[in-house]
Amino acid sequence: MITMITMTTMTTLPDLDTLRAMTARFAPVSVAADLATLDAPERRVLATLVDAVRVMDDLYLEQVWAGNRAMLARLREDRTALGQARLRYFLINKGPWSRLDHDRPFLPDAPPKSGGAGFYPADATKDEVAAWLSSPEGEAGRGFFTTIRRDAAGRLMTVPYSVEYRDTLEELARRLRDAAALTRQPSLAHFLRLRADAFLSDDYHASDVAWMEIDASIEPTIGPYEVYEDGWFNAKAAFEAFITVRDEHETQRLADFGRHLQMLEDHLPVDPQHRNPRLGALAPIRVVNLVFAAGEGNRGVQTAAFNLPNDERVIREHGAKRVMLRNVQQAKFQHVLLPIAGRALAPGDRGRVSFDAFFAHILLHELMHGLGPHDIRVAGRETTVRQELKETYSAIEEAKADIAAQWALEFLTDRGFIDAAVAREGPATVLASMFRSLRFGINEAHGRGVAIQLNFLLQEGAVRVETDGTFSVEPSRLRDAVTALTKEILTLQAEGDYSRARAMIARLGMIRPEMQRVLDRLDDVPVDIEPRFATAQALVTAEQMWGPPFLARFSWRAGGPKAG
Ligand code: ZN
Repeated sequence: MITMITMTTMTTLPDLDTLRAMTARFAPVSVAADLATLDAPERRVLATLVDAVRVMDDLYLEQVWAGNRAMLARLREDRTALGQARLRYFLINKGPWSRLDHDRPFLPDAPPKSGGAGFYPADATKDEVAAWLSSPEGEAGRGFFTTIRRDAAGRLMTVPYSVEYRDTLEELARRLRDAAALTRQPSLAHFLRLRADAFLSDDYHASDVAWMEIDASIEPTIGPYEVYEDGWFNAKAAFEAFITVRDEHETQRLADFGRHLQMLEDHLPVDPQHRNPRLGALAPIRVVNLVFAAGEGNRGVQTAAFNLPNDERVIREHGAKRVMLRNVQQAKFQHVLLPIAGRALAPGDRGRVSFDAFFAHILLHELMHGLGPHDIRVAGRETTVRQELKETYSAIEEAKADIAAQWALEFLTDRGFIDAAVAREGPATVLASMFRSLRFGINEAHGRGVAIQLNFLLQEGAVRVETDGTFSVEPSRLRDAVTALTKEILTLQAEGDYSRARAMIARLGMIRPEMQRVLDRLDDVPVDIEPRFATAQALVTAEQMWGPPFLARFSWRAGGPKAG
C-alpha cells in the first residue's frame, strides 16, 4: 500500500514503514537504451561521459544545501534498516526534504528547506538579497552562473560558479576533453571542448550554440541549466547531466514538426503585436533514449523532455533544441499514466489514452516553450518575461506550454499535420496526465501550472466531474476554453504583468476537493519512476573490467525499450 503523505498526517519524522511507503511512490524501473548504432570506440566515449558526469550529483547536492554532502556521508555509514531507507530516499530527493510533500524534512538534523536553496548565504533573507541585487553593487549577482556569499565584513558578494565549484569543475572539464579526444564525431567533440572551457570561464554562450548544433549518435546535455531550485528568484542555474543516444528513426519522423513553428507563432491566440514575426533559425527536435542522468536531471520526478538552453540571447539568435527522452516517457506511461487513467477518468474516456497522444503532448509542450513572448518591453524598458514575473514565472510558463500545446494540437490537426486518431486521444490523455502532474504537488512549477489549467477548464465546463467522482472531457466546450486560457496567459506574459500572474495563481493554482478525491484514489499508483540505469551500469562496468584494449571484444546485449 502506497500512501500519499500529507502535512496533516505527518507531524513527526517518518518511521521505517512510513519512509518505505514514501519511497514506494517511485517505481523502480530499469532504464535501458539500444546501442546498436554505436561502434566500440563510440561506446567508450559514452562510458567516459557517463563516468565523468557522475560529479553532477555532488555539485547539485551542494547547490541544494551546503550541509548535504556531510549528511550523505553520515547516512552511508548507517547500516541499520532505517538508515538504509533514509539513504535511498535522500538519494531520490537529493537532500533531506521530501519534494513530493512540500519539502517536508524526513531526516533528523535537517533544517527547514531554504527557498533560496544553497545559492545564497544561509543566514540571509530573501528581502535582504533582493534589495542588494537591485542595487548597483548587486548587478554582477543577477546572472545564472553565480552564487551570492558574504565577504569577511559580512557584506553580500558575488562568486562565479567557476570559483565556487572550482575543483569539481576542473576535473569535469578534464574528463570532457578526454571524451572529446576519443570521439570521431566532430560536432560532439566541438561541444565537449567548448563546454569544458565554459565550466572554467562561466561563459556558456559558445558551448550553448555548439550544443544546438550537435549532430551525432551520442547526445549529451551537461551544464548548469534550470532555475527551479532557486525558489526565491528563479535566477540561479542548477547542475545537471543527461547522457543519451539518439533515436534516429523517431528523430527523422519528427523533423517536420520544427517547420511548423513559425506558422504556429503567426496564429497564436494573442494580439498580433505580441507575436514574433521571425523565430530563431534553428529549432531542432531530438528523440533520444536516456542512458544516464545526474544532478538535477535525476532528482524526485524524472524529466521526460526538455527545451534548452534557457539563455534568452541564445534563443533569440539560435532558437532552442527540444530533447524528448523516449524511453523515460514510455516508462512513465506504462507505470503511472495508464493506472491513473483507469481511476481518474470516466469509463468513456479511459479507452482514449494512448502513448502516441502522450508523446505528442510532451513534444508540443516543449515546442510551445519556445513560442510566445520572451523578450518584452514594459513601460519603455527592454526586459524579459522571466525577469518581470519573478517567482511566478516557472508555474505560469509551464501552464502556458501545456495549454498552448492543446491549442497547437487542434490547430495542426485542423490542417492535417497530425493524425486525427492522435488528436482524438489527446484531450483524455492530457486529462489523465494532469492528475499525474498534480501529484507532484503545487509547490512545484509543473503541478501548479496544471492546477491553473484544470481549474480553468472546470470553470468553463470543458472538463466535468461525473457523479462517481471521475473526470471527463466535454469536447464541445474544450476548444474555446483552451484558446481563452492560452490567450490570457500569453497576454499577461507579453505585458510582463506580475500582479496578474499572482492573481491567476491565487485564483486558480489550488487543488479543489473534487481533485483531491481523485488524488486520494491514486494512493497505490506510483507517482513517478526511480530509474535504474542498466545500460550505463553495463557500460561503466565493462570499461572498468575490460579496459580499452578489450572493449572491442565485449559482447554487448542492448536491452532497448522496444525489446521489452
Ligand atoms: Zn515545461
